[in-house]
Amino acid sequence: MEAEALDRAKTKVAEAVDRLADDLEKISHQIHDNPELCFKEEKAAGWLSEFLERHGARVERGVGGLPTAFRATIEGSGPGPTIAIMAEYDALPNIGHACGHNVIATAGTGAGTAIAAALGKVPFAGRIQVIGTPAEEGGAGKVRLMEAGVFKDVDAAMMIHGRCGTQVWRPSLGIIKVKCEFFGKASHASSWPWRGVNALNAMIQLFVSLDLMRQQTKPDARVHGIITKGGDQANIIPEHTSADFYLRAPTKDYCKELLRRFEGCAQGAATATGCTGKVTADATIHDPLKANFTMAELFGKNLERIDFPVDPDDGEAGYGSTDCGNVSQAIPTIHPYIRISPDGIPGHSREFAEWAKSPLARTGMIAGAKALALTALDLLAKPGELKKAKEEFAKALG
Ligand SMILES: [Zn+2]
Ligand SMILES: [Zn+2]
Repeated sequence: MEAEALDRAKTKVAEAVDRLADDLEKISHQIHDNPELCFKEEKAAGWLSEFLERHGARVERGVGGLPTAFRATIEGSGPGPTIAIMAEYDALPNIGHACGHNVIATAGTGAGTAIAAALGKVPFAGRIQVIGTPAEEGGAGKVRLMEAGVFKDVDAAMMIHGRCGTQVWRPSLGIIKVKCEFFGKASHASSWPWRGVNALNAMIQLFVSLDLMRQQTKPDARVHGIITKGGDQANIIPEHTSADFYLRAPTKDYCKELLRRFEGCAQGAATATGCTGKVTADATIHDPLKANFTMAELFGKNLERIDFPVDPDDGEAGYGSTDCGNVSQAIPTIHPYIRISPDGIPGHSREFAEWAKSPLARTGMIAGAKALALTALDLLAKPGELKKAKEEFAKALG
């Protein structure tokens, strides 16, 4: 009986995604054409939450004290577990939607909207929520929402991310974000250079030291940064310089080891140039993703059901990071990748931004919406699967 009810619900919801596809693509393109940076995603949050509300979901705006966060709930047949589908919608500075969050946004919103539109109420005990999570790129919005209790009653969470291939499971790296400053002494760069202390030299020395350090770090570790202040004018010996770095690794412990070595490099650069150095590590550490193969398998089977192919990982790319990692360390979570570009197109590139509004992005968004919705239904209709996902979560390390 339950299996038949689930099958019927899945068919209806998948058909609803197809009916909503043009509207969803329109919102996806609107978000793409109006890139909004972290915590400033007013338009995107407005369009997405309005769409959910119009189709029958109960929407709360500004949840967790973040004005551009929202939560849309579709109730089930009675008390039971809560399954969350996450939607990201922030863009990157200058290069816009080069991470394709317009597709994440409309896939997640599409999943919830299709459930609300097709079923009204979820025909199983519990509820499904779409949580609009701002500021993935740089703001760790999901960590803020978790701290504010938005995920407190969530039993399992999921989202999709666009990529140059479809992989149900792919690891991500942890991050410690670090700011490094050097303080020297200003002086005329031509008539009295020997009276100055050059804070830019210290910064250049730090970058050189980090490049040497790289030879002795593990292959998956990443250390990269930009100079945010290199001085004020060429005729003044720079008295203050500043740079932002990400220290990334597959484990939190190795991120901390990178921080220890980074501090040594900064101290060395300060000593070599006579400057004072200051290293400030961000209090929020991004966790690596914790796998949940129980949920990933359900998601994979739903992709099969809708005839969407999964690709082998060609191994050409390294790993990124996500604030979804922190969610995955707190509750069973999946973060599958869905193809929205041809092979070999790097994320955070102008080419990927173009693909994020292509017909391939539409196909990926539709498949993502369906597979998310169907997997959420699976977890409510089959309590045994949710239990298994929770047991796997409890047993698994990191
Ligand atoms: Zn990104
Ligand atoms: Zn992203």
